[in-house]
Amino acid sequence: VEWRDQNGMTSSKKHSSRKLSSVPIKIRHLHKTFGEGSESFIALRDINLDFEAGALVALVGPSGSGKSTLLRIIAGLETCDNGQILFGDEDATNIRVQDRRIGFVFQHYALFRHMTVEQNIEFGLKIRGVDKKTRKKKVAELLDLMQLSGLGHRFPSQISGGQRQRVALARSLAPDPSVLLLDEPFAALDAKVRRGLRAWLRRLHEEVGVTTIFVTHDQLEALEVASTLVVMNRGRVEQVGTPSEVYDNPQTPFVMSFMGEVN
Ligand code: ADP
Ligand code: MG
Repeated sequence: VEWRDQNGMTSSKKHSSRKLSSVPIKIRHLHKTFGEGSESFIALRDINLDFEAGALVALVGPSGSGKSTLLRIIAGLETCDNGQILFGDEDATNIRVQDRRIGFVFQHYALFRHMTVEQNIEFGLKIRGVDKKTRKKKVAELLDLMQLSGLGHRFPSQISGGQRQRVALARSLAPDPSVLLLDEPFAALDAKVRRGLRAWLRRLHEEVGVTTIFVTHDQLEALEVASTLVVMNRGRVEQVGTPSEVYDNPQTPFVMSFMGEVN
């Protein structure tokens, strides 16, 4: 499988100068309710989190625990009832969504099917009015970084699922985001491809250095990939720590049983 190629590191050396400017993220007393009155449902309860610039954070927890909601609020795609999100020292709500410099990848890759790989990657640059020469340079750089060289002129239907996910990542990185948000980016892929992509996400993160938060319901994926783990349950943060802190020293019965499902 191409992305397991050990030589990937050789080609990636060139990119060490390409580190993006990452920002720390602070979340304070974040609260989110869906619906009203007796129909209302509390999706997030008093979330407080601190991520340093360049952190690779995994949000884990069972289905319905509020992971996607939290990610969408950080992205500005969803409002919160109460609380604050800071990118660096700046209140995120004061930054217009298009100025937040956030890259996204969702579970179901939404590549434009009528556009080639190259056109998909440069789309975000085009809508920002970046000139053609700069766009082409960026696309070539990202194709190389993602080990997709030679596939630029193919359409999404002509590449594998794992390759499509890497195109989606390339597209999200093209506008030089300072935050990268990934919602179960590998969930639709088979186990073997997922394993390859995990190692590859770590490496990408080392090279690009952008503050990254990714959602997964897969404990093993979180343990293997993240530098910081956030375990969520029913709209609350149960525990935050390094993978070994969370795995070896669970602070609540929930964390103990949830992380204990890994074998
Ligand atoms: P997760 O990503 O951890 O599976 P979500 O953040 O998607 O969880 O959802 C958390 C809870 O909030 C779920 O019970 C879900 O049904 C509810 N929820 C999410 N989005 C909406 C919405 N737009 N309207 C009403 N309820 C919602
Ligand atoms: Mg979700």
